[in-house]
Amino acid sequence: MSSTYEGIIASNGITMGNVYLFKKNEITVDSELISAENVEFEQQKLKKAMSDYKKELENRTFSTKEEEEITNAHKELISDPYLYDTITTKIVTELNNAQMALKSTIDEMVSTIELLDDEYLKERATDYKDIGEQILYKLKGIKPASLSNLPEDVIIVSKELTPSDTSTMDKTKVLGFATDLGAKTSHTSIIAQTMGIPAIVGMSNISEKVNDGDFVIIDANVGNVIVSPTEEEKEEYRSLIKEQKEEKDRLEKIKNKVAKTIDGCEKEVSANIGNLEDLDIAINSGCDGVGLFRTEFLYMENSHFPTEEEQFEVYKQAALKLDGKPLIIRTLDIGGDKNLKYFDFPKEDNPFLGFRAIRFCLKKPGIFRTQLKAILRASAFGKVRIMFPMVINVSEIIESKKIIEDIKKELDDANISYDKNIEVGIMVETPSSVVMADQFIKYVDFFSIGTNDLTQYLLAVDRGNENISYLYSNYNPAVLRAIKHIIKVSHDAGKWTGMCGSFASDTKATKLLLGLGLDEFSGAAGKISKVKDTILNSNYEEEKEFSDSLLNIEDVEEIEKIVFKHNK
Ligand code: PEP
Ligand code: MG
Repeated sequence: MSSTYEGIIASNGITMGNVYLFKKNEITVDSELISAENVEFEQQKLKKAMSDYKKELENRTFSTKEEEEITNAHKELISDPYLYDTITTKIVTELNNAQMALKSTIDEMVSTIELLDDEYLKERATDYKDIGEQILYKLKGIKPASLSNLPEDVIIVSKELTPSDTSTMDKTKVLGFATDLGAKTSHTSIIAQTMGIPAIVGMSNISEKVNDGDFVIIDANVGNVIVSPTEEEKEEYRSLIKEQKEEKDRLEKIKNKVAKTIDGCEKEVSANIGNLEDLDIAINSGCDGVGLFRTEFLYMENSHFPTEEEQFEVYKQAALKLDGKPLIIRTLDIGGDKNLKYFDFPKEDNPFLGFRAIRFCLKKPGIFRTQLKAILRASAFGKVRIMFPMVINVSEIIESKKIIEDIKKELDDANISYDKNIEVGIMVETPSSVVMADQFIKYVDFFSIGTNDLTQYLLAVDRGNENISYLYSNYNPAVLRAIKHIIKVSHDAGKWTGMCGSFASDTKATKLLLGLGLDEFSGAAGKISKVKDTILNSNYEEEKEFSDSLLNIEDVEEIEKIVFKHNK
């Protein structure tokens, strides 16, 4: 009989194959204190272990950008004098041997980081654990278990997979992952998504439930691992895998088509990106442009506010890669849950309603100007548009546009080219911007609806709070009516509205949004072809009638039911 175990979907898809159970050598710390005369010797041992690991990192080769970034982050962490100093202080003052000093330093760092309420920083705890483990192996002279020598085509099952594990893994032979630990945003999930293989994480104890060589099915569309499936289950999944492949091949063929409805309405299907690597993936996926460049990642991944030159290079590259297709650059949307290592944000009770996004930029005009100037200069190389986040007042648009006008004069004086007709828009993601849409539209060229925030603020439901996640629905009638209103106001003014919140890549919502009159859909690269496919097979007039009828329904669950049925 088969057994089914559940976990968190890290990367979608279905696969089946034999388990490669990855068990690491148990590594214990020798816990004998040292005598004063051995202090120097232990320090030398530590220094050598750290420098050996650093050399190993320097010699690594990469198959993904992700791995390169993680290795660079490890190099940075291991080169930080604070780490070495803290460990050696324990050797000198507490007469810990190098292994003990290393372990307690790493444990302290990890528990401090894990207390932080920040998913991104929590991931750094995994990096510290990984580094600690690798140095410990060196101190003990043990070679760590590795995934570099895999038998043909396997499914890796493990307690967890650290960056060191995945960076040495032979990726050509991995069909999927299932791990006891991990979350949606953890390293293992990101690697699986990058590799495009199905993966399930956070499975509690799957590594104890399977044996090496067991046959398993990973259904990462529903989040299940089926161990020792029956013949019927195997057959059922074989045909699902076949269907999945056929659907993938079919969508691959239409990805570069223009998304035009049967009755002739053309829509743009664009991508959201955070960096140039995302853009490469988006272009490969058939995007008609970029509807949201989240520039905050440029700032978050840096050790300083990026200079005008540094930003210009990135925006210019993006504009060139898009070769005339639109690139909407959102100005810095920092604050809330997104912080910077090099800037002390004030402590706030409600950071999501606090000093963030356009508010931050207008209070820091130097930082804002630097970014706007870089964007304007890049506009000479493509179809660049500027977009402001979290707008609540007309004055914010007026003030920001004044800065743009000042910079344009500066560029004219210096004979530097830029797009004189560059379009300027705002994200509609606050209740105020919905209510005031008819006024705001006078000052901008376009709207882009940020449903992630709009739904949270309109419904007063925190988008990240699991306790109330049942209330967070983009299908709530208040959200749908707001979307309809925003689009109508922009069309009445002869302008257009896009959407860059994740509702735009909810493929069950494509027909509904089409019917509401949305002009541009911008979201996950992986969903572009499916959104295009739906548009290509829809009739705008029919979907308009359908969407209008939905706006009279009061209950969110009923709306969801009708929409899902409408897609079948
Ligand atoms: C949004 O709020 O919908 C949006 C796209 O912005 P972010 O998710 O970056 O807040
Ligand atoms: Mg937002």
